[in-house]
Amino acid sequence: MSIPANQSPTFTKDKKTQENTPLYLANSTSKLPNVSYHYNPQVSQYHFGPHHPMKPFRLMLTDHLVISYKLYEQMDLYTPRRATKEELLEFHAEDYIDFLQTITPEKTLKMSDQKLAQFNIGDDCPVFDGIYDYSSIYAGASLDASRKLISGMSDIAINWSGGLHHAKKFEPSGFCYVNDIVLSIINLLRVHPRVMYIDIDLHHGDGVQEAFYVTDRVMTVSFHKYNGEFFPGTGSVDETGLGKGKNYAVNVPLKDGIDDDSYIRLFKSIMEPLITKFQPTCIVQQCGADSLGYDRLGCFNLNIRAHGECVKYIKSFGIPMLVLGGGGYTPRNVSRLWCYETSVLNDVTLDHTIPNYLPTHDWFGPDYSLHPQLDGRIDNKNSKKYLESVKQEVLEQLRYLTYAPSVQMQEIPPDITGLTEEEEDIIKELNSMNDDKDVRIMKNIKDEARSSEMVN
Ligand SMILES: [Zn+2]
Repeated sequence: MSIPANQSPTFTKDKKTQENTPLYLANSTSKLPNVSYHYNPQVSQYHFGPHHPMKPFRLMLTDHLVISYKLYEQMDLYTPRRATKEELLEFHAEDYIDFLQTITPEKTLKMSDQKLAQFNIGDDCPVFDGIYDYSSIYAGASLDASRKLISGMSDIAINWSGGLHHAKKFEPSGFCYVNDIVLSIINLLRVHPRVMYIDIDLHHGDGVQEAFYVTDRVMTVSFHKYNGEFFPGTGSVDETGLGKGKNYAVNVPLKDGIDDDSYIRLFKSIMEPLITKFQPTCIVQQCGADSLGYDRLGCFNLNIRAHGECVKYIKSFGIPMLVLGGGGYTPRNVSRLWCYETSVLNDVTLDHTIPNYLPTHDWFGPDYSLHPQLDGRIDNKNSKKYLESVKQEVLEQLRYLTYAPSVQMQEIPPDITGLTEEEEDIIKELNSMNDDKDVRIMKNIKDEARSSEMVN
């Protein structure tokens, strides 16, 4: 994409006033966290089939918006490598990954229904060209983001192509083939004693909940539509974890049409005590966009700003964060949302009018606004009384959490930090020095590592 040279880099001209309007304004002058953006453009080129609601090109639209608003000036940008097979096997079963690696649409035609059913292949999770490459690209991006958090190079790491929360150990589910969230959390657990997973997709985060259902080191919290039938059918308030993990799975079941105010109020009143009590050392937030109003598969009434308020609120705790995408089936609104949330994470305010030099500008008409009105399509079936009762049940569950579990952390195996040998050597040297110097040298290492790894 080319950006017109006759405009100064961060300004557009407003036609009416002939005055320059900044594309974005910083909200504060204080020191900001390091934000990194992990995106491999190849991921947007896969196709699930003409009638399938999952459209990977929504990721290209998102990236175009992020570029148009010049948010790349604020972040470290990385083009991550694909996840290796070994990395995928950290969670997934080998016969399933072998299947993904070798299956093609042509081979599917010759396979028995029984074999296809074994791997849950069907309308929701079809076999398409490049299925394994697609999966390893988005998983690779989440793993890359988790490595930057582990090494301290990022405080907030974003991968909008990730967040595919339904994938299971042995099979795909709900348009998700490999579970990049589980893989990243497994990676984070090597250095973080407690990881909190927060899911604001329309659907229950079942794959992640299931993977960590019996451990107290990961607290999973999911806000979603639930009536026992709506996909994936799980996520009732009394699914709370098992064994050591008892009470470390939290579910907030909602009904159709929830609006901005009730969602935000409920979200904050539940997350504040959970974070205070669990004291996560790292947070993974899945920002599925199908909870917006007017989503093709959706049934909530949320506006972009309200969804973003949940991200802003979690950011305010100042805990290292991995921020991921997820569902979202009206591509123009998915991309608006994730661009807006990128601005929230960078603490800048974007101009409401989408810059007009975007090649995909037509997608955002007729209003060309970053904040179209998305509420009001569906009746709100969540009474105050209902929401209050859900909140009380969750807070009651919280009473049983008496401590934030601590673990004896083992030394990080050197190969998982993603640091080069040279960087490892410098860190070793640094460890033998005094505190003040450490801070300074660590900063230099981070800066060097960033400049060598950044795309631009
Ligand atoms: Zn969803």
